[in-house]
Amino acid sequence: TYHFSNIGQALAGGSGIGELMDDLGQALANGGPDLKMLGGGQPAQITEINEIWRNRLAEISCNSVDSTRLLSIYDPPQGNPRFISAITNLLKDSFGWNLGEENIALTSGGQTAFFYLFNLLAGTMPDGQKKKILFPLVPEYIGYAAQGLDPEMFHALKPEIEEIGQHQFKYHIDFDRMKLGDDIAAICVSRPTNPTGNVLTDDEIKRLSDLAEENKIPLIIDNAYGAPFPGIIFTDVKPIWDEHIILTLSLSKLGLPGTRTGIVIGSPEIIRAVSSMTAIIGLSNPNTGPQVVLPIIENGEILSLSQNVIRPYYENKSKIAQQAARDIFQENFPWRMHLSEGALFLWLWFPGLSITSNELYKRLKAREVLVIPGHHFFFGCDEENWQHRHECIRVSFAMDERIVRDGLQIIAEEVIATLR
Ligand code: PLP
Repeated sequence: TYHFSNIGQALAGGSGIGELMDDLGQALANGGPDLKMLGGGQPAQITEINEIWRNRLAEISCNSVDSTRLLSIYDPPQGNPRFISAITNLLKDSFGWNLGEENIALTSGGQTAFFYLFNLLAGTMPDGQKKKILFPLVPEYIGYAAQGLDPEMFHALKPEIEEIGQHQFKYHIDFDRMKLGDDIAAICVSRPTNPTGNVLTDDEIKRLSDLAEENKIPLIIDNAYGAPFPGIIFTDVKPIWDEHIILTLSLSKLGLPGTRTGIVIGSPEIIRAVSSMTAIIGLSNPNTGPQVVLPIIENGEILSLSQNVIRPYYENKSKIAQQAARDIFQENFPWRMHLSEGALFLWLWFPGLSITSNELYKRLKAREVLVIPGHHFFFGCDEENWQHRHECIRVSFAMDERIVRDGLQIIAEEVIATLR
């Protein structure tokens, strides 16, 4: 056996999310016809959208210049210049932001962008000080949890819970608890949020942005589900960007997770740093995503596809899943679901649940219903005794409606079984 370095151990020693993904992957590979896969972040297969990608691939394969661009060249580390220019124009036209090509870099998926950004900004500084990324509201995206190369790089705050009606709720940032010490290197939020479907209000984002600017640190906004694409956001909020904001986009939830394309929008200093990290770690980025979507970015069609196809598709799926939950759960046990304002998930809360969400996850798995137990999304939050973190599960509604309904039925049966 070999001795692994600290960084080796951080990255190669396994992780909670790694085990869970493996677990889900195995179940999916070996699972029978009764498997209800409500666990992953896999986007839906939307026929109309997949057909656009297929047609575009056919077009590329008939054109020798485009084929060469797709397969046979290295792009610069910052990313394909024509694609960057097209994204710049799209964002300027959509939102009027004052940015240029020096404000945009590509990465190999949004996930990689976060690995770069967190480790660029936080960890051990040249003067020995330890700096952290602040998540002002957990639950937050599980994919961030194991990305810090330094131990204890994340600090997270529990939210305020607004209970709405009989069976809904919404998380809000608890600004009273938010103290920005000089050990905070950046603030980070996903909007819409994975796992909850929360969309932070314009006021919350404005306050975070002001705090970041006052403290001369960046505000990182993960816009993997947001505007202008893929547009899986059901409320009318204002997308923002400024020099002190780092905004990330991804082609994944547009239906192209296999292309691994992330887009970082930041100050030139941040963009140069991300490009340098790309060169060192991977030379350049995958070409496929940029080549496939280039024409619909240049002609703006990506906006109408997002608004008229993708958004209504998921909004409808969300409504059907919410109605199914109401029909099935009724008043049989205490339950609430987070307002579904975007993304692909219902976030279900069972107040007073007598087993942990992890135990519920295991019981559901034994019945071939795969969900994600909620406690994974509370990383960086040291309030161990806070019961809420063991009372929630994440359920994807991107799958077939019948599978979602059957899965919710079994969830209800298992929660009822805990009441006895
Ligand atoms: N950020 C959020 C909130 C996500 O949900 C995901 C994927 O599910 C990602 C980032 C990373 O996506 P990708 O690396 O496929 O761009």
